[in-house]
Amino acid sequence: MTRKNSKKNTKPKEWEALPFEKNQDLTVTIDALGSEGEGIAHVDGYTFFVKEALPGDEAVIRVMKLKKNYGYARLMEVLKKSSYRVEPRCEVARQCGGCQLQHLSYDEQLRYKENKVKDCFKRIAHFGEEIDTITEPIIGMETPYHYRNKAQFPVGKGENGQIVTGFYASRSHAIVDCEHCYIQAENNDELLALVKQFITEEGIEPYDEENHTGLVRHILTRIGFVTGEIMVCLVINGTKLPHAEHLVDKLKDIPGMTSIGINCNTEKTNVILGPTCHTLWGQDYITDYIGDIKYQISPLSFFQVNPVQTKKLYETALEYADLTGNEIVWDLYCGIGTISLFLAKQAKQVYGVEIVPEAIADAKNNAKINEIHNAEFFVGAAEEVMPAQYEQSGGSMRADVVVVDPPRKGCDETLLQTVIQMQPKRVVYVSCDPATLARDCRYLCDQGYEMKRIRAVDQFSHSMHVETVVLLSKIHE
Ligand code: SAH
Repeated sequence: MTRKNSKKNTKPKEWEALPFEKNQDLTVTIDALGSEGEGIAHVDGYTFFVKEALPGDEAVIRVMKLKKNYGYARLMEVLKKSSYRVEPRCEVARQCGGCQLQHLSYDEQLRYKENKVKDCFKRIAHFGEEIDTITEPIIGMETPYHYRNKAQFPVGKGENGQIVTGFYASRSHAIVDCEHCYIQAENNDELLALVKQFITEEGIEPYDEENHTGLVRHILTRIGFVTGEIMVCLVINGTKLPHAEHLVDKLKDIPGMTSIGINCNTEKTNVILGPTCHTLWGQDYITDYIGDIKYQISPLSFFQVNPVQTKKLYETALEYADLTGNEIVWDLYCGIGTISLFLAKQAKQVYGVEIVPEAIADAKNNAKINEIHNAEFFVGAAEEVMPAQYEQSGGSMRADVVVVDPPRKGCDETLLQTVIQMQPKRVVYVSCDPATLARDCRYLCDQGYEMKRIRAVDQFSHSMHVETVVLLSKIHE
């Protein structure tokens, strides 16, 4: 490692005891990848986090921020490239916050994600080497591009007053114009071009976030990967879209077009969608399939964004649940009932619990259109519904299998307590955050369960996110 002092010595008082200075350039070798996909360099026992750097890179980094034992640095120059470094397909990959890992070869992305999961179990939850034995190979994508079925493009004005659509630059609200996104469905290029044309031709003002003026905020598209059905929905700061018939004329003859509508969001907020939708043409929803289960998806519905990998994720959960047709299954954090319905065909009875009432309405509707009669759904917090139901039953409520698929913060302890009391034979834990997954598995393993199988699924290629399925089973006394 060599050090070079930069021009200015800007060391603030609280940094005086620290071994580095702000704006100091260091030549380092990156030796690991952090949990957010950032490179990590160790210099004299001090840790630097460097965005866009990769393990194996020899690079010049500039110190930006210092804490007691670690700091943040900017990647200035790669002197020698890591053997895992690839040219991102997307020209704006660096500016965009969406893909943190496009510059890392896909095989290495998968290895990184699998290791990240194992590492959480060992480091956070203090499991041992057995984790390596029970971890099955991560399920990657055959073609990790154009996998997303839902896009929400912000609309704004460029420097010359032209309409721009694309994405927000990383950690900002400046819109970077982008006509082709490598992770979105390819149909979006045509849809965006036509909507942009409509906005320009009709002289409609895009929304201005700062002043809360203008009309068109976002263009939402959803695409059924199996059915080919397309939805376009303009999110507007108002209740009426002028010249709507012109927009409909432009879009309606595109093969697969099924739903054209608006969503009204008149609040000054970062939340993209408002509470109400109006259909301008076609149906209020599109239909798609995961496996042989059919789902109706409206602009406001939650639906997994990578349908190809979601199928593999649910198949893994189904395999881990090991159903014979006689089981009672509870699916907690069930969303629109996707996992519940997937399991229902092979179980005796499935109960789903979900906090968002609209999602439960979708779940019930999806059960109906699939003619599934052995799935029942409850609205409420899992950590409230489950203990209440258990108490009401006088402790007799039974589950053979419990599936949980919580948000990033993981399961509430009260819920895990109730699961332990119910003593299901198997718990299938689907997780989008390996750290809270590891914490919750430790809790269950301290109270009568053992880890049997672990498998990561790459649902969000080129991002640092990883989805994991774990099978825990009750230890026989
Ligand atoms: N299993 C579903 C959804 C998983 S996402 C699927 O695969 O599509 C996590 C879900 O948990 C979201 O739908 C969210 O609304 C719900 N949720 C969040 N907190 C909850 C809580 N305390 N109790 C029940 N559901 C909750």
